[in-house]
Amino acid sequence: MSEQPKKIIISGAGLVGSLLAIGLKKRGHDVTLFEKRPDMRKNLKDQGRSINLIVTAKGIKTLASCNLWDAVKEITVPVNGRMMHSIAGEMTYQPYGKDDSECNYSISRGELNVLLMNKAEEAGVKIHFNSPLLDISLSRKCAYFDGHNCLSYDHLFGTDGAGSPTRDALIEKMGDKATFKMHPLGADYKEMQMPSDPNGDYSIEKNALHIWPRGNHMLMALPNQGGSFTMTLYMPTDWYEKYKTPESVEGYFKEFYPDAIPLMPNFKKDFLENPQGFLGTVRMNPWVYEDQVALLGDAAHAIVPFFGQGMNSGFSDIQYLLDQVDKNKDDWKATMTSYQDHQKLNGDAVADLSLENFTEMCDKVGDENFLFRKKVEHKIENSFPSKYRSRYAMVTYTLIPYHKVVEAGKIQSKILDEVCKGISSPDELNLDLTEKLIDEKLTPWFKQEGIKLERYHL
Ligand SMILES: Cc1cc2nc3c(=O)[nH]c(=O)nc-3n(C[C@H](O)[C@H](O)[C@H](O)COP(=O)(O)OP(=O)(O)OC[C@H]3O[C@@H](n4cnc5c(N)ncnc54)[C@H](O)[C@@H]3O)c2cc1C
Repeated sequence: MSEQPKKIIISGAGLVGSLLAIGLKKRGHDVTLFEKRPDMRKNLKDQGRSINLIVTAKGIKTLASCNLWDAVKEITVPVNGRMMHSIAGEMTYQPYGKDDSECNYSISRGELNVLLMNKAEEAGVKIHFNSPLLDISLSRKCAYFDGHNCLSYDHLFGTDGAGSPTRDALIEKMGDKATFKMHPLGADYKEMQMPSDPNGDYSIEKNALHIWPRGNHMLMALPNQGGSFTMTLYMPTDWYEKYKTPESVEGYFKEFYPDAIPLMPNFKKDFLENPQGFLGTVRMNPWVYEDQVALLGDAAHAIVPFFGQGMNSGFSDIQYLLDQVDKNKDDWKATMTSYQDHQKLNGDAVADLSLENFTEMCDKVGDENFLFRKKVEHKIENSFPSKYRSRYAMVTYTLIPYHKVVEAGKIQSKILDEVCKGISSPDELNLDLTEKLIDEKLTPWFKQEGIKLERYHL
């Protein structure tokens, strides 16, 4: 409980805004949420795009600390690894972790948002829908939402997504004290569907993230409860112009995803009618204004979705902020400063990791050298589980901050370079040499940084 309840306004009742509202309300603050869109619970089409998300350790930690993970887990499907589909229809499976207990969870963004809004209201948070933020007066500490007078606040949190109007207001008011860049990826996405088979079962392996990697474009599928998969097609932005007719779309799928066609009866309609989703990276600094305003989630650091960490990193913003609120009590200046210093580093790191994973998923999952290094790394992880975790595992199964993962990954890459020299099978790996290198180069660094490699357990 904080010493003095504060009047808190949150702009944006998406995943991050709704969960933040719950965390702050439970600490005794007077929290009101404002959302641009109508209430999605009254009309499914207001849910926005039906994308599926992967929930991983850092996201689970925040949900658990708000006592919500059990309820959220109920609406997920566990995902244990990646299934790669080659153009010839061959499938290769790569487990994510060292065993099946290390899994991710697939969830519908809309369903999760509904659950979080319900829980926010149950906790006593008032949500105003159809109320977009129009402007903020930093000098008067009040915010204008459509249909409302200028509403005063002690603290305002901008969780209003990649096109954040809170961020725009900060940039305008802070002038050259703020820097902002939006880098388009140059590839956009389309949502598509793979329905359940005629018996209501899954048509392909249920507990996997399926990828059809084709160089600079790819198809992905994540399981839903009930037998269907939500698919996402990623392709260069300027290609969409070429595929405007059912015939051209069919030609494209026949050429690149022939094995998926029988599983996707509506692929032409999905492609031609579903909106083309923009992908890009937002880099903003600073994320806070005095002790007054802070940005969280996509508003601060929208990233490309190829590490499955957009929401997870937004939830880790919440965890860090709430921990600081608990620690600093009424000293909100200390909370905001510490949030800026710690999470900005993390936001930059997760943005970089996600861009690198785009290259990995597009190009490298079909690259023999890359697959070989992955196999060797898998053997190292299994041989020395308390000393070595892959970068992927550190991001997804531990609470190690993203920027520390990047640093550890650089050391590990050098170790891999050395131990892969002159071998053609993971069975030939020199385990003594590998352990020696880990003990010399990696373990001391973890110790120095105070990092424990343990997997996050509930
Ligand atoms: C294809 C794809 C796949 C993804 N996969 C994953 C994944 O596997 N794992 C993962 O962790 N993340 C994933 N992400 C990222 C994830 O969806 C986002 O990071 C997450 O939704 C961000 O949550 P948010 O609450 O910050 O923003 P949003 O979810 O965008 O919510 C922002 C809210 O603010 C509202 N708003 C906007 N303007 C205003 C305004 N003027 N006033 C008031 N409210 C406003 C919006 O209506 C919305 O409700 C994926 C994203 C995409 C596109």
